[in-house]
Amino acid sequence: MANGQWPMVIMSLITSLQPYLSPEALSAVCDSILQFKQQNRSHVKVFSTDTLSVLISHLNWETMCNKLLSKELSKQYKECHYLILPDVEQDLLVVLMSTASLDERQLDPDDFKSHFLDAEHHIICPIWVDESRTDPCRIHLQCANVSHYTLFPNLLEIISNNEIHAEKIRILQAIETGSKNVTCCFDVDITLKMPLADEPFKSIADDFRRYLQNRLKAMSIFDLVGPAMVGPSSSHTAGASRIGLYSRHIIEAVIASGEKVDSLKVVMYASFRDTGVAHKTPHALGGGLSGFATDDAELLAHGDPDYLNEHGFEIGGQHIAFEGYKKGSLEEEKKFAQQTGNNIAEIIFQTDKGSHAIAGFSVGGGNIEIRYYDGWLKSPINGKSDMRLVNGRLETCSDANEQYPTIEKIFNDEAIAAPAKLPFNSFEEMLRYANEKDKDLIDLIVETEMTLQDTNREKIYSKMASYWHVMERAVEQGLKSKTLSLFKLSGKNASKLNSYVHENMLFDNLFGRSIAYAVAVNEINAKSGLIVACPTAGSCGILPGVLKAYEEARKPSERSICEAMMVAGFFGMLLFDDVSTAGADYGCQAEVGAASAMAAAALTYLEGGDIDQTVEAFTIAIKNVLGLICDPVAGLVEVPCVKRNGMYATQAISAAMMALSGVKSFISPDEVMLTMKEVGQRLHVDYKETGRAGLAKTRDGKKVENAFAGEIKKFFG
Ligand code: SF4
Repeated sequence: MANGQWPMVIMSLITSLQPYLSPEALSAVCDSILQFKQQNRSHVKVFSTDTLSVLISHLNWETMCNKLLSKELSKQYKECHYLILPDVEQDLLVVLMSTASLDERQLDPDDFKSHFLDAEHHIICPIWVDESRTDPCRIHLQCANVSHYTLFPNLLEIISNNEIHAEKIRILQAIETGSKNVTCCFDVDITLKMPLADEPFKSIADDFRRYLQNRLKAMSIFDLVGPAMVGPSSSHTAGASRIGLYSRHIIEAVIASGEKVDSLKVVMYASFRDTGVAHKTPHALGGGLSGFATDDAELLAHGDPDYLNEHGFEIGGQHIAFEGYKKGSLEEEKKFAQQTGNNIAEIIFQTDKGSHAIAGFSVGGGNIEIRYYDGWLKSPINGKSDMRLVNGRLETCSDANEQYPTIEKIFNDEAIAAPAKLPFNSFEEMLRYANEKDKDLIDLIVETEMTLQDTNREKIYSKMASYWHVMERAVEQGLKSKTLSLFKLSGKNASKLNSYVHENMLFDNLFGRSIAYAVAVNEINAKSGLIVACPTAGSCGILPGVLKAYEEARKPSERSICEAMMVAGFFGMLLFDDVSTAGADYGCQAEVGAASAMAAAALTYLEGGDIDQTVEAFTIAIKNVLGLICDPVAGLVEVPCVKRNGMYATQAISAAMMALSGVKSFISPDEVMLTMKEVGQRLHVDYKETGRAGLAKTRDGKKVENAFAGEIKKFFG
């Protein structure tokens, strides 16, 4: 917005707000807008939808109350109401708050609560969206368990995707349920400039549900440090194998229900189709369908198309013929257009009663969601729990809580146990929470993990220790290895680096060793060896590289190393609560960049940094990876990935050193995280693991791609 337009905007604001605010509050609104302007934000169109995320981090409930209302009222912030006045043409957004009700409609807390809670079974429907309406110019949506921090951007995105001309959006946040599983409920009312037909209305309600659903994954530190897997890619190999394995369980359930399965084919879409062969995605899907886990050395061999053409699948006591791996066309892919995620596989199988289709999405770091089974699932299967067949019925179970909702229930969208939610949504909130509760970082992390995953302290430490042992082995093997990868793009460099570092005093330190060790682990990954994704396989060298070099220098206890890994996982979890870890979604900044920040936080913790310094180290590292693109040559996770792990191991150490010395990031942590998201979203799709640009399209890169073309043909014919 040009500076000259400012007075006009303020005038229009004041006019809009006048009916709702006292003169004092109104003048506080103006002050706060001017403050924003003085903070040099005029160039980013203050209150524009583009910068909404940034605004939200500033204008959270407490900040808004503190700014606009008296201190006393701010204590009651949970009873306040929002009103948003969007102006699509001017790209203007006004956020107003008031302690008075903005609408004639008042919520009855008990009524609202009853939609979410099943008192008898102590279960809740994690998400509920009311689609009812009586007025074609109004959309009324209700939902639970979503923070304002999440709700606003999602809502605005839906409005803009659906090209709705909204006059007013009213959000009433009025309910605290008292349940640890339902943190808040929202009642949203959108007044439109023109009437909306039933069909688009339905699509908006569906979109809204989908967006919110994506937010309901109970995250774990092991989503970011883990799984142990055979390489080369967490999203394209580990995620794909999990999609295969979960599909196998669904097929088992179909067989148990009396159907005879004759044949099966696997269709790949988007990034799975474009770069999957290079990442061994087909092998992993087939290996998972054959029943192999992500870290099983046999996984990829059993997914080889030649092997499957000859042997087919043995599932549920039946022999199933393999019809091959297929490329999904762009036209077919449109059926998934409403979905977020760029790594999609569809498993289509024929039975004596017809055809069934399962669609799974790999959402980064080895995490998956099965979102379709003969149609869209209102409650996706998120792949965090094991599945098993019990007395002919397919059940999921988390390894700790021993609850077994049946798959029929999941498919029918009946109420399922909702995941516990993080008690904070941002770094700022986390720091405040730790301060208020007087918690040290490790206690906070362990207690949060125990609540979210219903597990216990010993299990957390022992799982982390087992991952540390896998990491150590990968460093050792990588340093010894003298072989090159299949296309000779990587291998042997770790051993060269290691010899050089150990012979050269100048480089034989934390920096030098961490480079050699990070490259060692990533070379093992490139050769489909066993590694731990952290947060992904492409970036799996940085954390072990830094930790191993540190361990040699300082000799910390194994327990301390495990705690540092928890810090890495926890901070990654806060970052990825809002974005995906896949380079295919947000570029390499979300893989190598995040890994570097996680290692920086881990190192700061090990060196005795306090919680603020640990956050600073993480933030400084993220700031310096923004915009890092994902452009692997021939889609193989080798160039630039392997050397990049070495490079960013040193960035982690630099960020930790800065934070430990007292250097602070000028930009607040949450704004940095939101900026990463913004940059990732705006990054051109060609720079998101498609192999269509960047280093992948250089002369030398193309040579490898051509050589690789024969390999791709083998899969798709
Ligand atoms: S360039 Fe980065 S994001 Fe892309 S595959 Fe390599 S490590 Fe992963």
